[in-house]
Amino acid sequence: MDEIESGEDVVAAFRAARLAAEEHMIAMDDAGSTWHETTITGIVLQHAHPTVKFVDFSQRQEGTTGADWLWWWVDESGEAFGMLVQAKRLKVGSRWTIDFSYPDGTSAQRDKLFASARELGVPPVYGLYLGTQAYRAPVTCGRADHDDSDCLACRMATVSLLPAILATVGGGMNSDNDAIWAVEHAIPFETLVDPAEQPDCAYDRNLALVDGELRDLLLANQHGARHVAKALFERVSSVRAMQFSAASELMIEGDSEQLFDRYPSDRGHLGVAYFEHILRGLRTAAPAYVLDVLADQSVPPSVADLVEGVVVVQL
Ligand SMILES: [Zn+2]
Repeated sequence: MDEIESGEDVVAAFRAARLAAEEHMIAMDDAGSTWHETTITGIVLQHAHPTVKFVDFSQRQEGTTGADWLWWWVDESGEAFGMLVQAKRLKVGSRWTIDFSYPDGTSAQRDKLFASARELGVPPVYGLYLGTQAYRAPVTCGRADHDDSDCLACRMATVSLLPAILATVGGGMNSDNDAIWAVEHAIPFETLVDPAEQPDCAYDRNLALVDGELRDLLLANQHGARHVAKALFERVSSVRAMQFSAASELMIEGDSEQLFDRYPSDRGHLGVAYFEHILRGLRTAAPAYVLDVLADQSVPPSVADLVEGVVVVQL
């Protein structure tokens, strides 16, 4: 019961954050102006606080860091899930665009995001600011209970997440289809942390290769850090399930801090071994610097130099 209640606290905090983000977007749209990623990130963190704790390094780093925030979700069992989040906004017009950088060897921004995420042992994720329901009209959630005047599903999508490896596999290189595809595959923050929203990985292409706790993660209901990890994994798993390339039966090893020690090596057309790519962020315990953040202690330069700040959510 406590776990469900604490989950509801976190959902409420992200709801308050999303409402504040919508308010700012509406005000800027009404003024004929525009809204920006860094402002929305600040609003989200400010309004999710104090349920969400964060430390911002940008003051002392004098702009040497990127705009990437390292998020950790820590639950009552002590298990934790980390992800490196880079904010991107949706631009609508004659075509929809999100300024994703592409894996074509020319994108320093994408390379840095992926390299920093690997160094930190977490998956790279885009934080998508998709504007208000009116901003996205006439595109909607498409649900049977959608309401053109005020739809909760459409409004929740305003602040969403997308595993970064999915950003460029949808519509093809430099295509505006990528923006639409990203919107369709993004997970609202409020859904990510809602214990009532259980992702379904029963159709994973490599289910037959996994056993024990990893199989349990895919098939059984989850809460806490495992739930957040599974929600992101499900997005990737469902895309892999639609790709027809043959799966490999080889397994790869995780490191000792990860919750799982073996993963299927299958990549499909994703370019990475997707089990390890996402689930490397799932740990038996939070890294020491996460506990430093919770204790208001300073974070070591090995982390602080790589990111704009650290966010910790206790589930
Ligand atoms: Zn809707």
